[in-house]
Amino acid sequence: MKQHRYDIHQVAHRLGIRIQRNKALCPIHNDHRPSMTFRNNRFRCWSCSISGDAIDLVRMVMKLSYIEAIDWIEGNGIGTCNHLSAASNPTTSKPINLDQYSYLFANPIITNRAAGFLFDQRRLDKTVVSDLHLSSNHTHIAIPYFDLDGHTLLSIQWRYLGCDPSVPRFSFVRGCRPAIYNLPVLATLQNAEDLYIAEGSSDCWALLSAGMKAIAIPSATLLKTCQAGYMDMIRHHRHLHIYPDADMPGMKLYQELKQQLPQLVMHSLPEGCKDYADFYKQGKD
Ligand SMILES: [Zn+2]
Repeated sequence: MKQHRYDIHQVAHRLGIRIQRNKALCPIHNDHRPSMTFRNNRFRCWSCSISGDAIDLVRMVMKLSYIEAIDWIEGNGIGTCNHLSAASNPTTSKPINLDQYSYLFANPIITNRAAGFLFDQRRLDKTVVSDLHLSSNHTHIAIPYFDLDGHTLLSIQWRYLGCDPSVPRFSFVRGCRPAIYNLPVLATLQNAEDLYIAEGSSDCWALLSAGMKAIAIPSATLLKTCQAGYMDMIRHHRHLHIYPDADMPGMKLYQELKQQLPQLVMHSLPEGCKDYADFYKQGKD
């Protein structure tokens, strides 16, 4: 049996798996009694019959290739703090081939934990979540940024579901540049229709769940740097709306967007709502 230096207990801990007396709830199947056991630096689920070492565990839980799993364990890969700094400084990281991630979104998986967040906590519409091809694993929701055609991947963002304060809530896959979110909606937009501009993907989900057509533009500079075609489509659309986040960055984004999009109509959130997602959720409670 081949052995390597990765400690399965440490790796399991980073994956959010809680081991007690060498047993844990299996993160792969819908486990209610701890079916996964840990012995000799390996795991085995006695219910779904999977087994392996630390690398295999990361591969299965994070849906990664062997190389990506090692990358993740080494602290360079997705879902770690390191890749956020790499993403915010794209010139220093090597460009990545996003095709290798297509499998994640071809057959999206919504884990129990992700379902709890998206449907119970955020009250999002199931059709919206499925149309956006959101996928998930035990710790993260994977958010694909598709091009206008609805299948070319431009970027991938992760939403962390855990509560480890050292892990960023949102981060882009290493080497990905931020892009406009939900571009495919532009292809369906009629002249007279309203288009809402959200600050982030999660506000965009709420707007879409409320029946609006929406995109997300995380920063105003993105409009200047994105492909001219998209910018023209947005700039020439007459009915643009925004609910700025109720904080300084939200107002700043609105003001910057307004300079580039004079037709942009601002709507205020009711008092006590920090962003549209919050407003939407309160309306559902
Ligand atoms: Zn299992």
